[in-house]
Amino acid sequence: MKQAQQKTVKRERELELLTQLVHAGERLPQLPGTPVATPVYTTTTYSYDTMAEVDRVFAGDQPGYAYSRFGNPTVSALEAAMQTLERGAGACAYGSGMAAIHASLLACDLTPGAIVLAAQDLYGTTTNLLHTVFGKLGVQTVMVDFGDVEQLEAIARQVRPRALIAETISNPLLKVCDIEACAEVAHGVGARLIIDNTFASPYLCQPLRFGADIVAHSATKYLSGHGDATGGVAVARDEETMEGLTQARNLIGGVLSVWEAHEILRGVKTLGVRLDRQCANARQLAEQLARHPRVARVYHPGLGIKGKNCQLASRMLRAPHTGALVSIELRENTKAAAYRFMDALQLCVRLTSLGDVVTCVLHPVTASHRNIPPAHRQQIGITDSLVRISVGIEDLGDIIADIEQALQAV
Ligand code: PLP
Repeated sequence: MKQAQQKTVKRERELELLTQLVHAGERLPQLPGTPVATPVYTTTTYSYDTMAEVDRVFAGDQPGYAYSRFGNPTVSALEAAMQTLERGAGACAYGSGMAAIHASLLACDLTPGAIVLAAQDLYGTTTNLLHTVFGKLGVQTVMVDFGDVEQLEAIARQVRPRALIAETISNPLLKVCDIEACAEVAHGVGARLIIDNTFASPYLCQPLRFGADIVAHSATKYLSGHGDATGGVAVARDEETMEGLTQARNLIGGVLSVWEAHEILRGVKTLGVRLDRQCANARQLAEQLARHPRVARVYHPGLGIKGKNCQLASRMLRAPHTGALVSIELRENTKAAAYRFMDALQLCVRLTSLGDVVTCVLHPVTASHRNIPPAHRQQIGITDSLVRISVGIEDLGDIIADIEQALQAV
């Protein structure tokens, strides 16, 4: 089998060893044969045979890569996968989920005086981003209960927002968003709807199909799935919004590393099989915990078949799944009780993340919602003993046994 060889350029004289050290082996001609897995392109920039080609690439008249902040084949492969999975006009990857959310908000033309309607139980850092970074730029955020669509519509008509933002499944109370109704509200006042689809992933929900304009992901969670990559992706419904997402990436520069893109793309391949098992485990765990004497409340979209949340789950999420998260409030509703329970766990891991193959627990008051004022936390139902469980792919009996023994410590 013949392999690629250095292009022979006629030279006046043989290159010196020092020069060969720099150039030998690089920029070999591409031979036919498509790699089965996308290679990790660690290059920052790209060369062309002629300046005329460079000119065409920069002008956008010829497809091609110029500089890795503007595009890289490994990152593009992940973007192409996400565009397909979310059924969008295009996708843009970023260095983290927060960078993807930041770019999504920027793509909604948030100039001074603009108003954002935000779901009151958004991930705490998203709320902080809106209040601090966008607040300082003169963008006002109004927190609203997106579960009450009539009220949402009334407020939207009154304040004429430029963007609405919610999560498919809220954190940590796991309320499912009626994306269809929220999109109608947004479009009725000429606003865009951003949906953070981190908790559902495109395997459980594709928000653009329900009318959302931008889908944002923390790829750090289910998409990657193994706790070893940090990243984010935003997918746009139309070309114009896509331009906003690309501009945010190119100008602010919060690009995804090629190594993370590779890990996340690999994770995406097993998303379906992981989530099939995680969701089945979560549903059974939720049902079991609902009967536990030391547990006061269990939050899981699959519980209470006649309830609004369960019905929304069956409309928005891929049947028969209802997500892979379960939140519990202990009967002794104190932070100390939550800590005793969490400290006693031997298998389930105390982690500030979710969506990994391992079952992990998080205390929202200490971690994700730490910077939310206590009064606001209480108002939206995030109490001191609330613990969020991200259910993994382990044997269900082992997960239940560990949680039950830890509940004895409460
Ligand atoms: N969105 C949700 C729902 C999250 O839970 C998180 C992080 O936990 C983020 C966004 C932010 O993602 P990242 O940590 O990748 O920036």
